[in-house]
Amino acid sequence: MAQILDGKTLSAQIRSDLKDRLNKQLERGLALPFLTVMQVGDDLPSTVYVRAKQRACEEIGIGFRHYKLPAETSMEQLGEAVRDVNNDSTVHGLLVQSPLPPHLDEIEVQRLVSPLKDVDCFHPENVGLLYIGRPRFQPCTAAGIIEMLLAYNIETSGKNVVIIGRSVIVGRPLAIIMMLKGRGGNATVTVCHSRTKNLSDIAKQADILIPAVGIAELVKADWVKEGAVVIDVGINRIPDSSKKSGYRLVGDVAFKEVEPKVSAIAPVPGGVGPMTVAILVANVMRAAGLKVQD
Ligand code: NAD
Repeated sequence: MAQILDGKTLSAQIRSDLKDRLNKQLERGLALPFLTVMQVGDDLPSTVYVRAKQRACEEIGIGFRHYKLPAETSMEQLGEAVRDVNNDSTVHGLLVQSPLPPHLDEIEVQRLVSPLKDVDCFHPENVGLLYIGRPRFQPCTAAGIIEMLLAYNIETSGKNVVIIGRSVIVGRPLAIIMMLKGRGGNATVTVCHSRTKNLSDIAKQADILIPAVGIAELVKADWVKEGAVVIDVGINRIPDSSKKSGYRLVGDVAFKEVEPKVSAIAPVPGGVGPMTVAILVANVMRAAGLKVQD
């Protein structure tokens, strides 16, 4: 039986620690950290993610605004809204929820967010700082995975890590962190993607396999080495008439058949997702000048 890497419990512990740190530092007169999340349109999964972020902030005592804009918002209007928040000194963190409607250029929008408030770590300046090993903010999902590995004492140094997915949000920053020197790093990293040939053979070489693709149950038991660690990042909705919502969430890993073969696995839901939110909160506190680690 594999060890289940319980991101839900771990995230709750991290958030509780952050809350204690926040209260102690507020006593010393520091400003209340504040996060604004901008959402253009009303994509349902995005709304669910924004709510999770809101709950986490409110639970800790961080200010939060869900800044909604209509789907037909132009690039100019969005730019103006971003600039307003950039110039508002009471807001410390700003993120623009993806996906944006297709007429808006996500990369251009990310460039407009002040790098000092870019708690998602998407601004080119922050990506550059990450690349040279001097990050200002941690990319939330990647850092959540690293914190999870560290918390469960899973060694990364010298290990073969295979990441499936090369997105700017997950695969690429994770590959950088895991190949750098330092905590959760020093790994030999292979990044696979939609054009990779013999994907299952490469996956099978992994000591630590991290699929971040968005294809339900893509990774089967015969893709995985006996005793490997599997961190499932994918979040996929599949129809399920037994659920009130009409769907259930599954990862990129066929959990039932993979779990008996591996030494540890982060499930979906309850694995990486909650860790992402904990890192976001830490980043907002950092942006407000608070200390989040000893
Ligand atoms: P994305 O669509 O931007 O990237 C997907 C990546 O998968 C691409 O690099 C693509 O090359 C690769 N890919 C696509 N089809 C493939 C195939 N058949 N074989 C191999 N590689 C393939 O997605 P993303 O934003 O990186 O998200 C990936 C998944 O992770 C989604 O399910 C998303 O919901 C989830 N996610 C979870 C969290 C979290 O906190 N748990 C955070 C972000 C994303």
